[in-house]
Amino acid sequence: MVKTNAATRKKTSDDLTQPIIQAIRPIPNFPRQGILFRDITPLLANPKLLRLTIDLMAAPFIKLKPECVVGIESRGFLLASAIAYHLNCGVVPIRKKGKLPAATYAESYDLEYGQDTLEIHQDAFKKGRRVLIVDDVIATGGTALAAARLAQKAKGQVLGFSFLIELAALSGRQKLDHQKIHALIRY
Ligand code: AMP
Repeated sequence: MVKTNAATRKKTSDDLTQPIIQAIRPIPNFPRQGILFRDITPLLANPKLLRLTIDLMAAPFIKLKPECVVGIESRGFLLASAIAYHLNCGVVPIRKKGKLPAATYAESYDLEYGQDTLEIHQDAFKKGRRVLIVDDVIATGGTALAAARLAQKAKGQVLGFSFLIELAALSGRQKLDHQKIHALIRY
């Protein structure tokens, strides 16, 4: 017999993400005038919601069998290593210019607020390694595109992207032409 009452019905993805949305704090005019910064620190500090967030960001990629999760400095690191642990993967950092100690590839890109350069270690992957790229927010998509280019320069095979937040009005996903782009929350 199919149970249909509210207490037993399967939770929809909206039910699941509602507490996550509530734990993300909007900070107006940070880091500069006109930017509504999505502060995920209250979410990260909540054990239940952190676990749920990691599970939901990892789940769509289990079947793709990634071998390595790339995290983008700096908030991407906080999510990427937990997702890597969940998916039984290694983790590789993409860092701001000058932070990585060994030989690097570099990519410059435009931010929602400013310009920057990201780097990856040249020997980050074995050739053809199956890579998932993780960050907290996709806004204009410049950061994620630079990360994908870096992963490809380092001979990784980019399977897709997992973002916690997508700022949909900025159309960042249109910059990315990869197989799978997943965002848990869209504003
Ligand atoms: P973009 O390259 O424009 O897609 O910007 C994405 C990067 O900038 C991510 O690494 C985010 O951490 C950061 N970012 C951009 N916009 C915001 C925002 N409104 N709130 C928090 N982080 C942001």
